[in-house]
Amino acid sequence: MELVVEDAVIITMASAGAAGALLVRDGRIAAVGTTAQVRAAAGPGAQVVRLDGATVVPGLIDAHCHVADVGYLAAAADCSQPSAPDIPAIQARLRAAADRTPAGSWVTGGGYVEYKLREGRHPTRSDLDQAVPNRPAVVYHTSLHACVLNTAALREAGFADQQPDPAGGRFGRDRDGRLDGVVFERPMFELFERNLRQDLARMGAAERNRLVAQASRQLASFGLTAACDADMRRDSFDAYASADASGVLGLRIYGLVVHDHVPWLLETGQRGRHSGRLAAEAVKIWADGGMSSRTAAIHGSYPVPPYGSGILYFSLDELTEMVRSFDALGFQVCIHAQGDRAIETVLDAYAAVCFAGNPLRHRIEHGGSLYPPLAARAAALGIIVAAQPGMLSVLGDGFAAAFGDRADELYAYASWRRAGITVAGSSDAPVITADPRLGMRDAVLRRTDAGRMFGPGEELTAWDALSLYTTQAAFAARREDEIGSLEAGKLADFTVLDANPLEVPPERITDIGVLATVVDGAPVYQAGDIFPGG
Ligand SMILES: [Zn+2]
Repeated sequence: MELVVEDAVIITMASAGAAGALLVRDGRIAAVGTTAQVRAAAGPGAQVVRLDGATVVPGLIDAHCHVADVGYLAAAADCSQPSAPDIPAIQARLRAAADRTPAGSWVTGGGYVEYKLREGRHPTRSDLDQAVPNRPAVVYHTSLHACVLNTAALREAGFADQQPDPAGGRFGRDRDGRLDGVVFERPMFELFERNLRQDLARMGAAERNRLVAQASRQLASFGLTAACDADMRRDSFDAYASADASGVLGLRIYGLVVHDHVPWLLETGQRGRHSGRLAAEAVKIWADGGMSSRTAAIHGSYPVPPYGSGILYFSLDELTEMVRSFDALGFQVCIHAQGDRAIETVLDAYAAVCFAGNPLRHRIEHGGSLYPPLAARAAALGIIVAAQPGMLSVLGDGFAAAFGDRADELYAYASWRRAGITVAGSSDAPVITADPRLGMRDAVLRRTDAGRMFGPGEELTAWDALSLYTTQAAFAARREDEIGSLEAGKLADFTVLDANPLEVPPERITDIGVLATVVDGAPVYQAGDIFPGG
């Protein structure tokens, strides 16, 4: 089956000028060029889709996304604003969710932002108790750095009023020192992780397929056709594989398998390319904590709570041994490293193992404080950085508070590119939205929500911002021969936009509409019905 796409501005990312048409044959791109060239290459029975001047870009790729978590939260009660404008609305959503939540699972909501609620505060345990009195209920903050528990959930989590704040975290308390239900940082991460794993284990195949389908639909609606899953485990791999077999995996998943799940991967023979849509070829290691929780391992100490110098999870020797063994097995290694102390340790480990370039394309995930001397080392070693520009607007004001006068040196994308580093675009969703339009805009503008300019001189051009989510992300996922640009022979993954991201004012990039998202030549999302077969 052949499909001609024409009357379009086609940004191929393979060369600077735009093409006007492309030909899809059997899920691959057969030709790109002028309408006359493409029509000449097409057979007589080809279907023709005219896009009325819309813009086509290569299918967008998120190089670091927690896809299963996105699906899990998409299935939770929608407590986001403006959809749920106040606490009574959140209570109503939770009551409705309680009716459909199986016994044994917590009633779950997600997406609230306290300062956007009419009340201007976090919901409390008693707000949640009113909605769900007799069983555990939780509502996650959109940042995933806080959540609210009802009384039953506090009890099940083992959190008691007299208890001091746990390491790496904090409890909200009322005037009498009693827990008000809000939980911040580390205990919140542990709770989320535990609930997700337990719920995944409890789900039947149909429900797991629904979770993956929900994640796929949401990512496709943002124009994404592929994502690196940043913490693939046995349960999430099984969920993707089952969804793939059922035809509901709407995007390509490239798995970064959590390091202690690698034995499972090897024993079951699941390593490598499972299908065109599912692969488990890389290993994920966490070297330190996070930037907004101020647990990234830095030299010096934070001027804001919880103070200290952050958390390094492995010694250099331990990390080097891990890198050495995974490298020897032929795995691409992807290490979460945010603070300069962690990044230095990771680079030392890579340097001890990678003598001859970086053929396996080992990566640093995030790389927030990859300051100039570290960037020079990373470039010399050929290390790839999977970065999240969208955090600049959403979390940038918090970074500025934690990093003071070094804040302008964080996420120095233009400098990193000039140093020769491959920088891949990503979201770290659900930490922030998976929407790559936000990341592209922030890579160009570098403005926080409060309007602070981050690192003057580090702005990327719109072309470079788009390359983060196309050619560069494809390289980071070791699939640049198949995806990331629109060229004859590559897979027919592309995204149709209602405006050209290279031409609109940068602050408008987030307003660009996704008209359709196409994988293997077939629509996985479309706003209208442009393409047949959706
Ligand atoms: Zn992550």
